[in-house]
Amino acid sequence: MSLNEPLLVATTNPGKIREIRAVLDPLPFRALDDLAPIVEPEETGRTFADNALLKARYYARASGLTTIAEDSGLAIDALGGRPGVESARYPGATYDDKFANLFRELEPHPRPWTARFVCSVAIVAPPDGAGRPDGRILFTCEATVEGEITTEPRGTNGFGYDPIFVFPAYGGTLAAQTNERKLAVAHRGRAFRRVREYLERVGVR
Ligand code: IMP
Repeated sequence: MSLNEPLLVATTNPGKIREIRAVLDPLPFRALDDLAPIVEPEETGRTFADNALLKARYYARASGLTTIAEDSGLAIDALGGRPGVESARYPGATYDDKFANLFRELEPHPRPWTARFVCSVAIVAPPDGAGRPDGRILFTCEATVEGEITTEPRGTNGFGYDPIFVFPAYGGTLAAQTNERKLAVAHRGRAFRRVREYLERVGVR
């Protein structure tokens, strides 16, 4: 089977794009910034996988391109998996504010505050014009990285919640690692290495 090219990677988050590029390069793809503006869909799914599929279908329909979309976030066990799919929308104008709010919520809970980052990916073809609103689902996968929430932010690399997420084998937060070291163990690196294997298998190069 061959894929229609070019492929679209449907995210506007610069941190995500940087990591996805590092894994998929030199395979060819476009980012949303390369296209005429498309209004973002509402992320109404209850799971990361629901939202990844919702975004892939939406952008495939809007762009006419085979679309790779991901949904990701931080799930903290003591908070019953929150902020989860609401990670980007968790209360706080800045990430420092979000961290302060999380620490307030976590304070009554015994440590360690175990947590994981999750990244779900979906690849969807554009609709085929036969009357069905959605194109074929070509590939899905999900990857996680297990760790713990710190009591204070540390490190300046990465993005989002990286400064409060400790990867135990590294003995520090993901924000205290180089991009390469984060990608080697973290959810997005693990998920997109599977995406790359899939794309290479179907002949994208
Ligand atoms: P969404 O997938 O657009 O709903 O946003 C995911 C949100 O989860 C991001 O805006 C970050 O707050 C958080 N997140 C996802 N992946 C990472 C990561 O690798 N490091 C830190 N935060 C992340």
